Amino acid sequence: MYQYPELALYINGEFLSGQGRDEQSVMNPATLQVLGQLPHANQADLDLALKSAHDAFVLWCQKSASERAEILHQVADRLRQKASEIAYHITLDEGKIYDEALSEVTSCVAHCNWNAEQAMRIEGRVIQSRDMDLMQLELREPIGVCVAITPWNFPFNQAIRKISAALAAGCTVIIKGSEEAPSAVMNIAKVFHEVGLPAGVLNVVWGVPEVVSDYLIRSPITRVLAFTGSVSVGKSLAAKATESMMSTVMELGGHSPVLIFEDADIHELLPALVRHKLRNAGQSCNAPTRCYVHESKYEALTTALVATFKKVVVGSGLDKETTMGPLANERRLNVMQEMVDDALSKGAKLLIGGRAIKGSGYFFEPTILTDVNDDMRIMNEEPFGPILTISPFRDEHQVVMAANRLNYGLTTYVFTHDAKRQHRLIQALEAGMIRINRIGSSLPETPVVGIKDSGVGVEGGVDSLKPYLQTKFVSLEP
Ligand code: NAD
Repeated sequence: MYQYPELALYINGEFLSGQGRDEQSVMNPATLQVLGQLPHANQADLDLALKSAHDAFVLWCQKSASERAEILHQVADRLRQKASEIAYHITLDEGKIYDEALSEVTSCVAHCNWNAEQAMRIEGRVIQSRDMDLMQLELREPIGVCVAITPWNFPFNQAIRKISAALAAGCTVIIKGSEEAPSAVMNIAKVFHEVGLPAGVLNVVWGVPEVVSDYLIRSPITRVLAFTGSVSVGKSLAAKATESMMSTVMELGGHSPVLIFEDADIHELLPALVRHKLRNAGQSCNAPTRCYVHESKYEALTTALVATFKKVVVGSGLDKETTMGPLANERRLNVMQEMVDDALSKGAKLLIGGRAIKGSGYFFEPTILTDVNDDMRIMNEEPFGPILTISPFRDEHQVVMAANRLNYGLTTYVFTHDAKRQHRLIQALEAGMIRINRIGSSLPETPVVGIKDSGVGVEGGVDSLKPYLQTKFVSLEP
C-alpha cells in the first residue's frame, strides 16, 4: 500500500544514501523479502554527526523552551497525520501486526507532546542564603550531545521518547536505531526535517552496532547515553559510558512474573493476559513470561490459556485475520526452539505449540510450558517470544520468592483483590513497575523504570527530561 521508505543516514540536516558506503539488506520477517538497503556510516560520517550535533547544541540550547516545544508539537501533529504510513512500514520491517504498529505510533506521539510541555516546566531553585547580600541559585541546563541507541521491538516508541525528551531539554541527538527495523527512525527524521528542525539537532546513523556505539560513546563530544535494549549489551555500553564519565539512562530487559491468587477471576484477567503475552509475538520487555497461579486455580488457568492460545492466528501482520505476527529475526526463532528443547529435556510438559512454523518467515507457535523448574533456560533468560510458563504455588511467601528470584526487575503483575495482600506485595516485590489487577502500557505521564539488571534511571513521567539535564550552582553577589 505504502512504498517502503528510502533508507539513509541523516547528518547535519542532509539525507545521505549509499554512495560507496557499506550497506546491509533490511528484510521483511514475514516473507524474507528484501525491503531496502541500509547505508552504514563510515568514520567520516560519525565524525560529521558528532561535529554537527556539537555545533547545533550551541544554537539549540539557546532557543527558548517554548520554541523547542513548538517544534515538538508540530512534529507530533505530522506524525499523527502520517501514522498509518509509519505503522505500515513498521509491520513490513519489524513484523508486528498492523493494528499494534498503528497503536504504537498513535499512542507514542503523545510522548512527543508530553515532552514538549515538560520543556516549559524545567525549573531550578533559589537556595536561602546565610548572607542577605548573596543570592544562591540552582539551575537546570541541558547536558549536551545525547547518543540514543534503540531496539527493534518498539522502534517508534523507543526512538520518539528519547528524541523528544532530549530535544525538549535542549540537548541535541545522534540516534542509532536498530538496523533490522529502521523505517520508524527514518520516518521520524523525515518529519523533523519537514518541520524545519535546524541542521545537526537530530542525526541518524546506522552501522555495525558495536563499532558505531563504541565510537560515539568514546567521543568526548557525547555527554549522555540513552539506551534501550538487552541487559548484556546495556551493561557493556554502561561500562564504556562510565569510563567517559557520561550520564546514562538504561532501559533493559525483563522477565515479568504474573502472580494470580486464589481470589482472582481467571476469565476476567484472561483477555489482557493473552493480549500482552502475545503482543508483538511476545517480543516486549514487559511481556508476562512466568505465570505463578495459586494451586486452587491452576487447572482452570491452564485450560483457559490453552483454549485461548489455540485460537491465535499466526501470519503476516498485514493480513486482517492475523492475531500474531512473526518473530523479528532468525536469532529469536532459534532461541525459542532452544529454550523449548532445553525445558523439555529437563522435564517440562508442552501443553501447546513448541515449534517453528514451516514456510517463509520467522513464525513460531504460541507455546505453553508447565512442570518447569529453575534450572531451565526459560526460567532464567528473558524469553522474548511467544512462550509462557505456568507454575502452581501454595503460599504468598513462596510466590514472592519465586517472583524476585531473578536479577531482572522490570514489571511484576499481580491479580488479587485482597487489600492487605496488595499492600504487602507492593513492598515485597522487586520490580520497577507493579501492576495490580490491570495489565496496561506505559503512558506519557507514567514512568518506565527498571531496577536491578533491568535498568538505571527513569524514562517518561514528570521526570522525563531529567536524564538530559544537569545541575549548575550559581552564587551571586551583586
Ligand atoms: P539489543 O541489546 O540486541 O539491541 C539494542 C540496540 O543496541 C540496537 O540498536 C542494537 O543495534 C544495539 N546493539 C546490539 N548489539 C550491540 C553491541 N554489541 N554493542 C553495541 N550496540 C549493540 O536488544 P534488542 O534485541 O534490539 O531489543 C530487545 C531488548 O530490549 C530486550 O531485552 C528487551 O527487554 C529490551 N527492551 C527494554 C525496554 C524497556 O523499556 N526496559 C523496552 C524495549 C525493549
